[in-house]
Amino acid sequence: LDNADDLAEYSERHRQAVLDAPVMLRVRELDKSFEGLHAVNKVSFDLHQGEVISIIGPNGSGKSTTINLISGFLQPDSGLIDLADEPVAGLSPADMSERGLLRTFQNGRVFGGLTVEENINLGYHRRLVAARPFKSLQRYPIARWLSLLAETGVALVPGPRTRREADEVNIRVDREIDRFRERLSARRRDCTYTLSYANRRRTEIARAHISEPKILLLDEPTAGMNQSETAEVLRQLQYLKAQGHTILLVEHKIDLVTALSDRVLAMDGGRVIAQGAPDDVRNAPQVVEAYLGKRR
Ligand code: ADP
Ligand code: MG
Repeated sequence: LDNADDLAEYSERHRQAVLDAPVMLRVRELDKSFEGLHAVNKVSFDLHQGEVISIIGPNGSGKSTTINLISGFLQPDSGLIDLADEPVAGLSPADMSERGLLRTFQNGRVFGGLTVEENINLGYHRRLVAARPFKSLQRYPIARWLSLLAETGVALVPGPRTRREADEVNIRVDREIDRFRERLSARRRDCTYTLSYANRRRTEIARAHISEPKILLLDEPTAGMNQSETAEVLRQLQYLKAQGHTILLVEHKIDLVTALSDRVLAMDGGRVIAQGAPDDVRNAPQVVEAYLGKRR
């Protein structure tokens, strides 16, 4: 997929194919207000298996709130969220991640005192590792652990019980790092607080990905990155798409996600103002209007 024509053709075929796939995430009339501010206003959409949908919109349009509602970090005032036909609205972040809904955060949340490997290892268990399998864990008191985990939506389960299980996990983690090796390999034994912002965010995506999520929710995965870091993350996401992952992505820069997305959902003032193929949405008059005078 090195040239633009191939990518365009691949994208179009992908778009058509995923629309026939089963619905993985069904959102209906999702609603959330903060003290009179209608942050998310009757948002409805379907995300199909293998589909990549980007939610675009100016700052403050309700994108993060939508992701926070879907991942259980906020409770909706009303509306339905079904994951693979099972109602999940109102569940906790840990329950959501246990069901296969994994996310990253607008500002990135990795455990600074753990190494790259250890952070990714956590994701493998999806819920943590009561047995404290790595040394670095012992730097944190358990109460601190629990609150850190709650912040990232990881819950508590037993870790590997045998040496063999632990070895298998380590092989998976190695593979995951090699997949994202461009920058992470050399740093795999370093604590993430020593990493660049972009590398911390890459670690976070790897941690979510190794959980084999049914759905990956990404809140502005390229925010605060320079051009080459952004391009690298977009390549990483193209790769995940080609592997068949189902992704819901938030991005305020509409141009970044056009090539990647099967469909785009544009929000403004808490509402979905347009949805459809990327080019149709970016050229829709109400979308152009919403972006007029705002950063694009
Ligand atoms: P976006 O991610 O599109 O920039 P957000 O979903 O973060 O937008 O915010 C939508 C609106 O809701 C904004 O006006 C924001 O200030 C407000 N908002 C978001 N979270 C809270 C909160 N926890 N309490 C009060 N207002 C909030
Ligand atoms: Mg946001």
